[in-house]
Amino acid sequence: MKCPSCHVGILQNDTIDNLFPCKTCDHCQGHWLLLKDYMYWKNHSDKKPIIEDTDISAIETKNALICPLSGTLMIKYRISNEVENRIDYSRHCSAIWLDHGEWQLIKKLDLAYQLNDIFTTNWQKKVKDNASSQLSDKCYIERFGEEDYKKIKEIRDWLVNHPQSNNLFNYLNAINFSNRNK
Ligand SMILES: [Zn+2]
Repeated sequence: MKCPSCHVGILQNDTIDNLFPCKTCDHCQGHWLLLKDYMYWKNHSDKKPIIEDTDISAIETKNALICPLSGTLMIKYRISNEVENRIDYSRHCSAIWLDHGEWQLIKKLDLAYQLNDIFTTNWQKKVKDNASSQLSDKCYIERFGEEDYKKIKEIRDWLVNHPQSNNLFNYLNAINFSNRNK
């Protein structure tokens, strides 16, 4: 089977951390694996993923991949909003492509047991929501400064969770800012 990513190497039988079978490209070192093999390890084995102390930087393929089994387009799924890497997934074959270093990255993010969750709508929604809340945080920090933003966020959290939040809010809202400066 030819490598769907680099199109140069051949996929050779291998395992990931001796946990579950995969095929590894003898050129780009990417891994091809079936979701069912991963799930079997996750649900039936007590073998733990190996925590490496070497830092392998994960590469990220920008190009769309074609599933080598079904010939259909693989879909890219963001792993987390902390990293830009996306994992390619063939829905047709329930198969996963991990670029070289991505399994190490997944372990580093403490997601070795959540690989299958990444391909769910809920997970992807969470990644998107987190990214947009980080973006609005950035805008507010630019506007208010870091210290004031931290303070107003604390006040807001206290206010929205307070049993009298409406009354408290009305009280604040009634402040006459034009008089204050006189
Ligand atoms: Zn390859």
